[in-house]
Amino acid sequence: MTENFPQLSSFDEPSLDAAFATLAEEVRTADTTDIEAFRLHWLGRKQGRLKLISEAWLKSAPPEAKKALGIRFNQLKQQIEAALEAPAPSTTRTARAEQGIDITLPGTVRAPGIPHPLLKTMHEIVSVFHHLGYSTNLGPQVESDFYNFEALNFPPNHPARDTQDTLLIAAQQSRPSRDRLLMRTHTSPVQIRTMIAQAPPIRIVIPGKVHRNDAADATHSPIFHQVEGLCVGPNITFSDLKGTLDHAMKALFGSDVRTRFFPSFFPFTEPSADVQISCIFCGGKGCRKCKHSGWIELLGCGMVDPAVFAAVTEERRKINPADDAYNPEKITGFAFGMGVERIAMVQHGISDIGHFYSGDMRFLEQFAS
Ligand SMILES: [Zn+2]
Repeated sequence: MTENFPQLSSFDEPSLDAAFATLAEEVRTADTTDIEAFRLHWLGRKQGRLKLISEAWLKSAPPEAKKALGIRFNQLKQQIEAALEAPAPSTTRTARAEQGIDITLPGTVRAPGIPHPLLKTMHEIVSVFHHLGYSTNLGPQVESDFYNFEALNFPPNHPARDTQDTLLIAAQQSRPSRDRLLMRTHTSPVQIRTMIAQAPPIRIVIPGKVHRNDAADATHSPIFHQVEGLCVGPNITFSDLKGTLDHAMKALFGSDVRTRFFPSFFPFTEPSADVQISCIFCGGKGCRKCKHSGWIELLGCGMVDPAVFAAVTEERRKINPADDAYNPEKITGFAFGMGVERIAMVQHGISDIGHFYSGDMRFLEQFAS
């Protein structure tokens, strides 16, 4: 081994510096890819290069040179240890680059997906009612005239049908009017489907997409979303309806929101009401958003019309002629319906409904929290 050592002609300081500089350069340029081999080569207990050199040189060194020799051995050892702790990055980088991997390049950031703001609001509304013990029911978007209108007390040719400009499925004229298909104009047909299938008590929410032949503008879209609710059982009163909706509005918009109910008309509820909440932008003082009234109209509701229970009973009696589950003398109920877009627009202060459908990431990314 000794023939590989740098030649040490003299033990004066310039000679020592020259010899150790050679060794330091050897450590600096060593291949540290196999870090354990590098460690053994220099620091191995028996055959380590550092041990062999120190033994050879210290043996022949005069006593006055031993201190200078010892200091330089310690410096060399520290250099080797430092190299062990931080393997030469240039070597590693080159090795990886040869494999086609450059770990110094920034990674590809894949942003996590988020729910669409409309779905988020829809889930929030549904969740408020889930906490009140409601369950979720869904129904088809292509409905028959019977479920969408007739059973909900919109008789054929009744003017109330004109309030919901309907998209009809083509070529249905040969069918009886109750079976003609259309795009549902509200989620209310699921109320009928549920009551025909299930006896009271009923507490359901019905989220879903609805369709109307409306021209798109800042507040209208031919396709939009509703969450409808139905509660049927013995002794359900208008007070229950008011308490339920007041709680729901506070849960959605904050506990200091107030509600008020105004007489309204829907064919399937009697009495019917429009619900307003105190303006969340001005607290009720009056501002542009609430047209200086202090109130924002948000949803419709009412007590289920006995004519709806009668239509349900007629269907149920086709299966069980003695069915009396929806006798309006024994049970009552309330229903409510709200537009998800309308709620989301108020929640977030959005002025144009078109933003929800534009697919513009600059709009959607604002809801990524
Ligand atoms: Zn206001």
